[in-house]
Amino acid sequence: MSMVEKRKKERINLVLNTIKTHPDASKTEIKKISGLSMEAVLQYIDYLTEAGLIRCSGAKAEEEAKVGRRADRYRLDPDGGKFLGVKFTARRMSGVVTDFCGDVIATYELERETRRVTPQELMERIFHCIDRLTETFPIRTLTAIGLAAPGFVNSESGELLRYNNLVSDVPLPLKAEVEKKYGVPVFVDGTTRVKAIAYHLNAGKNIENFAYIFIGSGCTSAYIYKDSLYRGGNGFDGELGHLPVFGRTKECSCGKKGCLETVVGNGYIVKEMQERGRECRTIGDFVSAFEQGDAVAAELMEEIAACIAYAVSAVITLYDPRYLVLCGDYVADEKFKAIFLRDLERFCLHDLFERTQIHFIKNQRGDNASDAALLCYYNLYYNKTLI
Ligand SMILES: [Zn+2]
Repeated sequence: MSMVEKRKKERINLVLNTIKTHPDASKTEIKKISGLSMEAVLQYIDYLTEAGLIRCSGAKAEEEAKVGRRADRYRLDPDGGKFLGVKFTARRMSGVVTDFCGDVIATYELERETRRVTPQELMERIFHCIDRLTETFPIRTLTAIGLAAPGFVNSESGELLRYNNLVSDVPLPLKAEVEKKYGVPVFVDGTTRVKAIAYHLNAGKNIENFAYIFIGSGCTSAYIYKDSLYRGGNGFDGELGHLPVFGRTKECSCGKKGCLETVVGNGYIVKEMQERGRECRTIGDFVSAFEQGDAVAAELMEEIAACIAYAVSAVITLYDPRYLVLCGDYVADEKFKAIFLRDLERFCLHDLFERTQIHFIKNQRGDNASDAALLCYYNLYYNKTLI
């Protein structure tokens, strides 16, 4: 693609994304928001309408009432494409098909697999999920498939580099395998990067610069910089959970000892509670014990909050994001927030602490794979580095 073609594609995507974030915008509004000339806006609206990606949504009633002052308005065309998303963790695999607007058409969920699986078994599970989701329509009508994978993921090559629930250390070419079988474009990325993209395209659409930190069984992070996902040089960016916590010696899933993950990861917290003499089977049990004022849970939470605050202070100090999202099972707890913010203030430059807005989100279990489907839209129509 030449530079001129690249520029044109970027401008077309700018109009498309302006309409996505401002449904029912008029041409004048699209011109104002996008900063493009009216000539360019008209040209690209025609192009996008012909491509079937947007459609005229008519005029607002009050404008229709004013004779001669009718303004056409536009929104995405749901029939503009069909995206299939599959998301899997150690616990579950869920899939979804959405229309071009992101509305869910079909969902499918697979029983949890408790043991470690071979690469072939994992591929079969993914294929099964895709087959079930596409039972009612021809696969060739899919625009793309998005996969959100745990472990270490190289989004450029589409390989799962390492994943603890897999009985293999050899990189698994997820993208190549799925493309070979179904013949549609496939995008693969890490779960937290996909969460950050979804957050950016939905809730955080006006924030061009933010960090997203997710704490689940491990701790990973992703960065949106100038509306694009930051990508590291080797596909290992954002592995916050493997920073060392000095003085800690527990063995980590990565093979090292004393990683942040071994202090703040859900599984490690549950084990730690048991080792300190408490009955605790899930992360929910720990949160309940903490909320009910259990002394051991409170002591443990102090240690966890300090470690997270230290890691977050490193992220804020290095990147100075305007906004930071912290998502996990226990981070939205009011008492946790208070301890965490107290420690963060201690570790962070005063100006950065004052200026960084922190948003705490409780991890939603059982959410569907819509964010994996959104990965397709992001790569095809949004990501400026790929066009
Ligand atoms: Zn580690």
